[in-house]
Amino acid sequence: MDFTYHSNELKNKLNIAPVILAGPEACRVITDNGGTITQNGGFLWNDGQFIVAVKDENHIGTLAHEMRHAWQYMNQVKEYKFGNKNIYDKREKEVNAYKYAIWYLKQYGLSEPINIPKLSR
Ligand SMILES: [Zn+2]
Repeated sequence: MDFTYHSNELKNKLNIAPVILAGPEACRVITDNGGTITQNGGFLWNDGQFIVAVKDENHIGTLAHEMRHAWQYMNQVKEYKFGNKNIYDKREKEVNAYKYAIWYLKQYGLSEPINIPKLSR
């Protein structure tokens, strides 16, 4: 099960269809087009472009995390509610993305070091 496999699995599970890229150049595509990259990856959705990028294709947890952010973004636009509340809050979005990544890895018996950071509000 490689990066392409997991890319497709995540697209299906989250029902989103971004272009998924890996590698340092992929991340540059995001920043060059006005998107934001955190340490390991990021996503871009503007001008009809919908791209998820991760720096290292071996980090499936990062891919799952960024895909979840892309899902959050799409569903925010549709005013989707997560539980009983909107996930507009940055900390909640991060926790939700980390939890999703941990859950996703578990489905495949994978483990990668993921520490849910304590983010200040
Ligand atoms: Zn994040």
